[in-house]
Amino acid sequence: VTETGDRYTLTLTFDDGPNPTYTPQVLALLHKHDATAVFCVVGQSVHDYPQLVQRTVAAGHTLCNHTYAHDGQFSKRTKQDMVRDISRTKEEIDSAVGGRATVPYFRQPNTYVQPSVMPVLESLDLRPLDWTIDPRDWSRPGADAIVQSVLGQLRPGAVVLLHDGGGDRSQTVAALEQILDGIDAAGYRYVMPGEK
Ligand SMILES: [Zn+2]
Repeated sequence: VTETGDRYTLTLTFDDGPNPTYTPQVLALLHKHDATAVFCVVGQSVHDYPQLVQRTVAAGHTLCNHTYAHDGQFSKRTKQDMVRDISRTKEEIDSAVGGRATVPYFRQPNTYVQPSVMPVLESLDLRPLDWTIDPRDWSRPGADAIVQSVLGQLRPGAVVLLHDGGGDRSQTVAALEQILDGIDAAGYRYVMPGEK
Protein backbone atom coordinates (compact mmCIF):
# COMPACT_ATOMS: atom_id res chain seq x y z
CA VAL A 1 0.00 0.00 0.00
CA THR A 2 1.37 3.39 -0.94
CA GLU A 3 1.37 6.35 1.42
CA THR A 4 -1.30 7.99 -0.71
CA GLY A 5 -3.38 4.83 -0.67
CA ASP A 6 -3.21 4.75 3.12
CA ARG A 7 -5.19 7.95 3.34
CA TYR A 8 -8.07 6.33 1.47
CA THR A 9 -9.76 4.45 4.25
CA LEU A 10 -13.41 4.02 5.12
CA THR A 11 -15.75 1.95 7.25
CA LEU A 12 -18.78 -0.01 6.15
CA THR A 13 -21.48 -0.59 8.77
CA PHE A 14 -24.58 -2.80 8.62
CA ASP A 15 -27.45 -2.27 11.06
CA ASP A 16 -30.39 -4.15 12.52
CA GLY A 17 -29.28 -7.75 11.90
CA PRO A 18 -28.61 -10.51 12.09
CA ASN A 19 -31.19 -11.52 9.51
CA PRO A 20 -31.41 -15.06 8.08
CA THR A 21 -32.11 -13.84 4.53
CA TYR A 22 -29.83 -10.85 4.10
CA THR A 23 -26.90 -11.26 6.50
CA PRO A 24 -25.54 -14.36 4.68
CA GLN A 25 -25.75 -12.51 1.35
CA VAL A 26 -23.93 -9.50 2.75
CA LEU A 27 -21.25 -11.74 4.28
CA ALA A 28 -20.75 -13.51 0.94
CA LEU A 29 -20.34 -10.23 -0.97
CA LEU A 30 -17.93 -8.82 1.61
CA HIS A 31 -15.88 -12.03 1.47
CA LYS A 32 -15.73 -11.86 -2.33
CA HIS A 33 -14.31 -8.33 -2.07
CA ASP A 34 -12.02 -9.07 0.88
CA ALA A 35 -13.89 -6.37 2.79
CA THR A 36 -14.46 -6.10 6.52
CA ALA A 37 -17.32 -4.23 8.18
CA VAL A 38 -18.97 -3.39 11.47
CA PHE A 39 -22.29 -5.14 12.18
CA CYS A 40 -24.58 -3.25 14.56
CA VAL A 41 -26.69 -6.08 15.91
CA VAL A 42 -29.98 -6.04 17.80
CA GLY A 43 -30.10 -8.25 20.91
CA GLN A 44 -33.34 -10.03 20.16
CA SER A 45 -32.15 -10.96 16.65
CA VAL A 46 -28.87 -12.18 18.12
CA HIS A 47 -30.99 -14.38 20.39
CA ASP A 48 -32.92 -15.71 17.38
CA TYR A 49 -29.95 -16.22 15.05
CA PRO A 50 -26.82 -16.82 17.14
CA GLN A 51 -25.09 -18.83 14.38
CA LEU A 52 -25.14 -15.79 12.11
CA VAL A 53 -23.30 -13.78 14.77
CA GLN A 54 -20.73 -16.57 15.06
CA ARG A 55 -20.24 -16.56 11.29
CA THR A 56 -19.90 -12.77 11.24
CA VAL A 57 -17.16 -12.80 13.89
CA ALA A 58 -15.42 -15.82 12.32
CA ALA A 59 -15.25 -13.91 9.02
CA GLY A 60 -13.25 -11.15 10.72
CA HIS A 61 -15.94 -8.51 11.08
CA THR A 62 -16.48 -6.32 14.15
CA LEU A 63 -19.63 -6.13 16.26
CA CYS A 64 -21.48 -3.09 17.54
CA ASN A 65 -24.19 -3.06 20.23
CA HIS A 66 -27.44 -1.63 18.77
CA THR A 67 -29.72 -2.17 21.84
CA TYR A 68 -31.86 -5.18 22.64
CA ALA A 69 -35.03 -4.26 20.72
CA HIS A 70 -33.99 -1.26 18.58
CA ASP A 71 -35.28 1.26 21.10
CA GLY A 72 -36.06 4.47 19.21
CA GLN A 73 -36.33 6.41 22.49
CA PHE A 74 -33.10 5.09 23.94
CA SER A 75 -31.60 8.42 25.01
CA LYS A 76 -34.73 9.21 27.06
CA ARG A 77 -34.29 6.16 29.32
CA THR A 78 -32.75 6.30 32.77
CA LYS A 79 -29.04 5.54 32.97
CA GLN A 80 -29.89 2.34 34.81
CA ASP A 81 -32.21 1.21 32.01
CA MET A 82 -29.62 2.09 29.37
CA VAL A 83 -26.98 0.02 31.18
CA ARG A 84 -29.45 -2.85 31.57
CA ASP A 85 -30.39 -2.80 27.86
CA ILE A 86 -26.80 -2.63 26.63
CA SER A 87 -25.67 -5.32 29.08
CA ARG A 88 -28.50 -7.65 28.15
CA THR A 89 -27.59 -7.24 24.48
CA LYS A 90 -23.92 -7.92 25.26
CA GLU A 91 -24.87 -11.07 27.19
CA GLU A 92 -26.85 -12.26 24.19
CA ILE A 93 -23.82 -11.67 21.94
CA ASP A 94 -21.51 -13.46 24.40
CA SER A 95 -23.88 -16.39 24.47
CA ALA A 96 -23.99 -16.48 20.65
CA VAL A 97 -20.20 -16.60 20.29
CA GLY A 98 -19.72 -18.88 23.30
CA GLY A 99 -17.50 -16.62 25.37
CA ARG A 100 -16.65 -13.00 25.96
CA ALA A 101 -17.22 -11.29 22.63
CA THR A 102 -15.35 -8.18 21.56
CA VAL A 103 -17.95 -5.46 21.00
CA PRO A 104 -16.14 -2.10 20.96
CA TYR A 105 -18.97 0.07 19.65
CA PHE A 106 -22.47 1.25 20.42
CA ARG A 107 -24.83 2.78 17.85
CA GLN A 108 -28.05 4.42 18.98
CA PRO A 109 -31.15 3.43 16.95
CA ASN A 110 -32.41 6.05 14.48
CA THR A 111 -29.99 8.82 15.49
CA TYR A 112 -26.43 9.77 16.27
CA VAL A 113 -25.48 8.93 19.84
CA GLN A 114 -27.09 11.60 22.03
CA PRO A 115 -25.32 13.40 24.91
CA SER A 116 -27.35 11.62 27.62
CA VAL A 117 -26.00 8.27 26.40
CA MET A 118 -22.31 9.23 26.42
CA PRO A 119 -21.63 8.75 30.17
CA VAL A 120 -23.19 5.30 29.97
CA LEU A 121 -20.94 4.35 27.07
CA GLU A 122 -17.92 5.64 28.99
CA SER A 123 -18.85 3.57 32.02
CA LEU A 124 -19.17 0.45 29.85
CA ASP A 125 -16.02 1.18 27.82
CA LEU A 126 -17.97 1.47 24.56
CA ARG A 127 -17.23 3.87 21.73
CA PRO A 128 -20.08 5.75 20.01
CA LEU A 129 -20.50 4.81 16.35
CA ASP A 130 -22.19 7.42 14.17
CA TRP A 131 -21.94 7.71 10.36
CA THR A 132 -21.10 10.16 7.58
CA ILE A 133 -22.92 8.59 4.60
CA ASP A 134 -26.58 7.61 4.90
CA PRO A 135 -28.14 6.51 1.60
CA ARG A 136 -31.43 5.80 3.44
CA ASP A 137 -31.41 2.28 2.05
CA TRP A 138 -34.10 1.33 4.59
CA SER A 139 -36.56 3.56 2.68
CA ARG A 140 -36.00 1.40 -0.43
CA PRO A 141 -35.22 4.16 -2.92
CA GLY A 142 -34.00 1.58 -5.48
CA ALA A 143 -30.62 -0.15 -5.70
CA ASP A 144 -29.24 2.41 -8.18
CA ALA A 145 -30.11 5.31 -5.88
CA ILE A 146 -28.34 3.57 -2.98
CA VAL A 147 -25.24 2.99 -5.13
CA GLN A 148 -25.15 6.60 -6.38
CA SER A 149 -25.66 8.03 -2.90
CA VAL A 150 -22.81 6.05 -1.36
CA LEU A 151 -20.29 6.35 -4.19
CA GLY A 152 -21.14 10.03 -4.73
CA GLN A 153 -20.29 10.88 -1.13
CA LEU A 154 -17.12 8.80 -0.67
CA ARG A 155 -14.45 10.62 1.34
CA PRO A 156 -11.45 9.42 3.28
CA GLY A 157 -12.64 8.49 6.78
CA ALA A 158 -16.24 7.93 5.66
CA VAL A 159 -18.52 5.73 7.74
CA VAL A 160 -21.22 4.24 5.50
CA LEU A 161 -24.58 3.27 7.02
CA LEU A 162 -26.39 0.32 5.41
CA HIS A 163 -28.89 -2.26 6.70
CA ASP A 164 -28.80 -6.07 6.62
CA GLY A 165 -31.87 -6.41 8.86
CA GLY A 166 -35.07 -4.79 10.07
CA GLY A 167 -37.10 -5.29 6.89
CA ASP A 168 -36.81 -6.08 3.18
CA ARG A 169 -33.13 -5.37 2.40
CA SER A 170 -33.03 -6.87 -1.08
CA GLN A 171 -32.25 -3.43 -2.57
CA THR A 172 -29.30 -3.02 -0.22
CA VAL A 173 -27.96 -6.44 -1.20
CA ALA A 174 -28.47 -5.62 -4.89
CA ALA A 175 -26.61 -2.32 -4.42
CA LEU A 176 -23.76 -3.76 -2.39
CA GLU A 177 -21.90 -5.48 -5.22
CA GLN A 178 -21.67 -2.20 -7.17
CA ILE A 179 -20.79 -0.24 -4.05
CA LEU A 180 -17.91 -2.64 -3.30
CA ASP A 181 -16.72 -2.47 -6.92
CA GLY A 182 -16.79 1.33 -6.76
CA ILE A 183 -14.90 1.43 -3.46
CA ASP A 184 -12.27 -0.95 -4.85
CA ALA A 185 -11.91 1.13 -8.01
CA ALA A 186 -11.46 4.30 -5.94
CA GLY A 187 -8.60 2.63 -4.06
CA TYR A 188 -10.07 2.59 -0.55
CA ARG A 189 -9.07 0.25 2.23
CA TYR A 190 -11.47 -0.89 4.96
CA VAL A 191 -10.69 0.09 8.54
CA MET A 192 -12.49 0.17 11.86
CA PRO A 193 -13.64 3.65 12.91
CA GLY A 194 -10.78 5.66 14.32
CA GLU A 195 -8.13 3.38 12.76
CA LYS A 196 -5.70 4.84 10.26
ZN1 LIG B 1 -30.96 0.53 13.51
